[in-house]
Amino acid sequence: KMHNTILELKGNIRVFCRVRPLILDDDVENETKTISFPTTTEAMGRGIELLQHGQSHPFMFDKVFTPQSSQEEVFVEISQLVQSALDGYKVCIFAYGQTGSGKTHTMMGTPGSYDDKGLIPRSLEQIFEARQKLKDQGWKYEMQVSMLEIYNETIRDLLSSNKSSSTDGGNKQQYAIKHDPNGNTHVSDLTIVDVRSSKEVSYLLNRAGQSRSVGKTQMNEQSSRSHFVFTLRISGVNETLEQQVHGVLNLIDLAGSERLSKSGSTGDRLKETQAINKSLSSLSDVIFALAKKEEHVPFRNSKLTYLLQPCLGGDSKTLMVVNVSPAPSSVNESLCSLRFAARVN
Ligand code: ADP
Ligand code: MG
Repeated sequence: KMHNTILELKGNIRVFCRVRPLILDDDVENETKTISFPTTTEAMGRGIELLQHGQSHPFMFDKVFTPQSSQEEVFVEISQLVQSALDGYKVCIFAYGQTGSGKTHTMMGTPGSYDDKGLIPRSLEQIFEARQKLKDQGWKYEMQVSMLEIYNETIRDLLSSNKSSSTDGGNKQQYAIKHDPNGNTHVSDLTIVDVRSSKEVSYLLNRAGQSRSVGKTQMNEQSSRSHFVFTLRISGVNETLEQQVHGVLNLIDLAGSERLSKSGSTGDRLKETQAINKSLSSLSDVIFALAKKEEHVPFRNSKLTYLLQPCLGGDSKTLMVVNVSPAPSSVNESLCSLRFAARVN
């Protein structure tokens, strides 16, 4: 089957592309359409074409979502991946793209709006529903959640009740990452919460959202300059079958990928820019090396790839959702994003 071949060739790495609709904030004075979706049998649902200065740039991905695609349609395509975390796989789902391209919409959606719920709330609902069904087959599951952000190569615990410690970036021992031989990751001092329902997780997501913005003068700025990592650890035991599974689901809203010019920025801004560029290119390098089955995978080049190392290699499963804005003013950034995605694809 076509699908399986793709999975095997790429070592369980898949890339989706999602183009958001035009929104009021977009500069649409220039009416030229820059994005189109080819409809030949081969490219149907998988192709995207970008027009820049009259030149066409065609790309193919495992799946392309148009501005008309709903949150539900996107979720349908990832639900199997989410399910595999219950079967004991380690899964990473990334949202990549420039600021304003729809990453947070894809991952979280609009809080409180049922139809607009993103991948994170939908995944949790599916997992807790499936857990209920698996109970009848003798499976007992325990779930744990942690949420952190990586800003300037420094981890911040988003569920810490101790506010002072969460802003203490000076303590080098804090949030040290260790991987044990069983492929489990430990981050020292990181808050881990046992959860029994998707409601409990929603509550924690709200709390994390608040923690992200506390004391920040430029909240949106900050959140688009940091990686948000949501982790659900799943442990299942079936005493009758004498079986155990340990799965992990990581859902990551990446920092904005826009190329900030190094020349124009100084001080903190420059440090920030370098940290983002470094971690996004490290992520690309790691995924590229894994896809090519290279012997050396440079996990240690950034906090993000080192943190996720056990969930990126081996028989784990990775999905990159590349978010793209259709605004003509974003065409250069969109091309960069598609090229990034085509490389890891
Ligand atoms: P990012 O997280 O990449 O910076 P956002 O998710 O915040 O981008 O999206 C930017 C704006 O576009 C928001 O107002 C968001 O509601 C809107 N948006 C993004 N994707 C969609 C979509 N698929 N449908 C409708 N609105 C969207
Ligand atoms: Mg965002």
